[in-house]
Amino acid sequence: MSLAGLSILLVEDHGFQRRLGLRLLGDLGLTALHEAADGFQALDLLRGLPSPPDVVLVDLDMPGMDGVEFIGIVAQDRLAHSIVVVSAMEPALLHTVQVMAKASGLRVLGCIEKPLTPGKLTTVLSLYEADPSAGSVAADIEITLEQAREALSRGEIVPYFQPQAEFGNGKIIGVEALARWRLPDGRMVAPGVFVPVMEAGGLIDELTSLMLVQSCAWWKRWQARGLDLKISVNVSAHNLTGPEVADKYEAVLREHGLSPEQVVLEITESSVMSDTARGLGMLARLRLKGFGLSVDDFGTGYSSLSQLSQIPFTELKIDRGFVSGAPTQPRKRAMIETSLDLARKLELKVVAEGVETIEEWQLLAGLGCNYAQGYLISPPVPGEQVPDAIQRWRQTHH
Ligand code: C2E
Ligand code: CA
Ligand code: CA
Repeated sequence: MSLAGLSILLVEDHGFQRRLGLRLLGDLGLTALHEAADGFQALDLLRGLPSPPDVVLVDLDMPGMDGVEFIGIVAQDRLAHSIVVVSAMEPALLHTVQVMAKASGLRVLGCIEKPLTPGKLTTVLSLYEADPSAGSVAADIEITLEQAREALSRGEIVPYFQPQAEFGNGKIIGVEALARWRLPDGRMVAPGVFVPVMEAGGLIDELTSLMLVQSCAWWKRWQARGLDLKISVNVSAHNLTGPEVADKYEAVLREHGLSPEQVVLEITESSVMSDTARGLGMLARLRLKGFGLSVDDFGTGYSSLSQLSQIPFTELKIDRGFVSGAPTQPRKRAMIETSLDLARKLELKVVAEGVETIEEWQLLAGLGCNYAQGYLISPPVPGEQVPDAIQRWRQTHH
């Protein structure tokens, strides 16, 4: 779908700003436009539409029903496919709203700070098109262990891949594998829903193995097309319980013609730090075999320099909560600078997660971060779309 084909609802209490927004959207070629002056009007309109609009652009600060409440209802009643938050508010607040909406299963394309411009609108709306699973993410459904087990055995769980680019030259050097559950009706279930169920129910080894095996199979196909990519796979602390893990993972790789040097295992900061000596021993063995080890969601746990230095990590991933909005928020920027300092001292490479804007890219590049991952480069895509996603990024990045 092209940008012009998107249907949009603009919710904005300020008459002039609303007209301006509609004019800019019209100038971009969009014709399926709806408007509402407050949350109540917007909900009435949404409930009356034959199908939900692709994108709701909503102002956060509105009298009557504020944007936060409005987004909550839209998410709960599935009244839209995705939202864009428009605001002149503090970025920390924008981030909170984003997290909230995402947690309730609504896709957040991004936040735009006022004033609206054609550039900002194009950037954020093109994200809708960029994700093939747009509008079909079912994040709020509850699943049982039995359903999770069946999904695994029926092959409904597949990896999507999100490229990582080098800041220096923009080159794509690797991809992170992210689990997706494709429901028979075509909707996608986000890993936030089923990973915890699998962890609790003893299915996580099966998931991790599946992700490794399928990632290796894709790696071979990309390799045949001349793409040399590292693969990052998420590992849960629950995976690191038996002594055979390191041998098992290595065997999977060798079977597909990969070596551990081409694979990075990501493990969240919070789970590493609460880990036992056994878990640490497992990480050491994986590192000895040559696997890269990454601290995921860095900044959200409570690791100290000494804890981090005791584990043989090779990489640190700055949590996207710190990346998003960093250009205008000194606190986030300070957090990023501190992480980069730490990484330099421990000789770790640093990946910034959730890079969505040029401004974020430029800031991180300037601070000496190594790699970027995020919607600016590409959303996670199915394996067959990886070469195209890389090609698209090459064309836009100069
Ligand atoms: P994560 O490892 O931190 O993965 C990054 C998440 O950020 C992904 O969400 C990705 O789709 C999203 N993301 C990437 N770029 C952007 C961006 O520019 N902006 C925003 N707002 N988000 C972005 P996803 O795929 O829903 O995965 C959620 C979490 O589920 C992952 O967080 C990871 O912790 C877990 N997970 C995913 N796959 C697996 C798996 O195979 N095994 C295990 N154990 N956990 C997994
Ligand atoms: Ca990860
Ligand atoms: Ca992360």
